[in-house]
Amino acid sequence: MAKRSPLAEKLEEVRQRIAAACAKAKRDPSEVTLVAVTKTAAPEQIREILQLGVADLGESRVQVLTQRAAQINEFVARQRSHGGSPGSGGLPEKVRWHMIGHLQRNKVKPVLPLVSLIHSVDSLRLAEEIDAQAAKLGKKVSLLMQVNASEEAQKSGVAVGAAVHLAEQVDSMPNLQLVGLMTMAALEENEAKVRQAFSRTREIFEEMRWHKIGGTNLRHLSMGMSNDFELAIAEGSTMVRIGSALFGGEAHEDHQVGEE
Ligand SMILES: *Cc1c(COP(=O)(O)O)cnc(C)c1O
Repeated sequence: MAKRSPLAEKLEEVRQRIAAACAKAKRDPSEVTLVAVTKTAAPEQIREILQLGVADLGESRVQVLTQRAAQINEFVARQRSHGGSPGSGGLPEKVRWHMIGHLQRNKVKPVLPLVSLIHSVDSLRLAEEIDAQAAKLGKKVSLLMQVNASEEAQKSGVAVGAAVHLAEQVDSMPNLQLVGLMTMAALEENEAKVRQAFSRTREIFEEMRWHKIGGTNLRHLSMGMSNDFELAIAEGSTMVRIGSALFGGEAHEDHQVGEE
């Protein structure tokens, strides 16, 4: 058997940990989507992880996302036109970009055509701007509402007590499709506290379901990062956003522009 690359090994390890966490929670691993967060990845690592079969990529900054989506789309188009290079593995049918970071209203327009899912809607004004831009594109935009379940003052996300009301408002906008919630737990040693942020988010999700907010499309909980995804899966996560466990923790800022 051919020796696997370091990235292939890390991906295999992450997939096994996801499978183990699902088994422990008596869940089917197909319920949990791995979103590879590429903010510390070099461009060649992004291409490699696609060839390893990961179709979902996440970025937290608009400028980086737009640059990288353009590069990757070009790469995928080139591979396709060559019928795929030998030994390059299979590229996914469709590459899906996830906007996972804080989104400013004046950045909505450039990201909208590129993203499959926005994870970070946390205010009425932002939702209104996305709705207005989506109308211009004639596109229905899928999004998650970000909840500040750890209740840290500096953190993005709608407050726990305001979440259901905002969800109702978002759900009433014609060009938006609310599909779930996202949260980030605190960077915290205390497992019980981390887990509480996830369980609180799941409770809000259940309350929304009870009110039929989002209808049958409401089915995603984007919870869990490299340090806490097993706890998130135990609490019902359907999307884990994993960066450093795949690509390491060092940022590749210098690779971001014009790299090919
Ligand atoms: C960076 C980031 C991640 C990934 O974090 P890791 O700890 O590197 O796995 C997930 N979600 C958001 C919103 C991020 O900004």
